Amino acid sequence: MMLLDAKNGNVIDWPMSTRRNSRPRRCPRCRIHQMYCFCAHIKPTTVQSTLSLIVHVRELKLTSNTATFLKEMMPATTHFDVRGRMNEPLQIEPILERPGTPFFLYPDENAIELNEEFKRKHPGPYHLLVPDGNWHQARKVHQREPLLSSIPTVKIPAGITAEYQLRRAPQPHYVSTYEAVAHALGVLEGEHVRDELMAFFRIFVKSVMHSRNKFHDELDLEGEE
Ligand SMILES: [Zn+2]
Repeated sequence: MMLLDAKNGNVIDWPMSTRRNSRPRRCPRCRIHQMYCFCAHIKPTTVQSTLSLIVHVRELKLTSNTATFLKEMMPATTHFDVRGRMNEPLQIEPILERPGTPFFLYPDENAIELNEEFKRKHPGPYHLLVPDGNWHQARKVHQREPLLSSIPTVKIPAGITAEYQLRRAPQPHYVSTYEAVAHALGVLEGEHVRDELMAFFRIFVKSVMHSRNKFHDELDLEGEE
């Protein structure tokens, strides 16, 4: 069977059997087609900060979800807290018992910039709470949970632009969850942490782009707003 590329009308030579089997041939860990698996590049790093990723249940399925790879890169100190599950509300108290002074990474109008001055005022160790999901959901998480809204918000230094965008963002300077955490830890922990995290991120994005170009009938864009 022949397929046409909707963008340019070119014929894509792609046997039917390959298409039918493409889902089972995804790597279970990085969730990309095995041809583009980048698991070999996951080299965990050690950080002092605790990371709590507050992830919407719908986000867990998306290959464009970058938070998953923060857990892969910093397995010892990263926690996943899933919200939006039916009859299973997110429990905030256990999250706040984790070590480190809590800060909520979200660039609202009150957010304090992470920089050297911040570190002087607030010596670590830190506990970064990071909402994941679309931007609208992320804001609601902080506003709606009384226990969370009392935690000060912080933002990454000005002038950082997203290197790659796998999903739509309302502003070009809005970066993915992964990049935001990498730059935040670059300030709090040191540039080497940011560099290690970003080196992997570039491989991740490149692999996903290659995969999407080839398997563009499998774009998983649901859940984006
Ligand atoms: Zn893989």
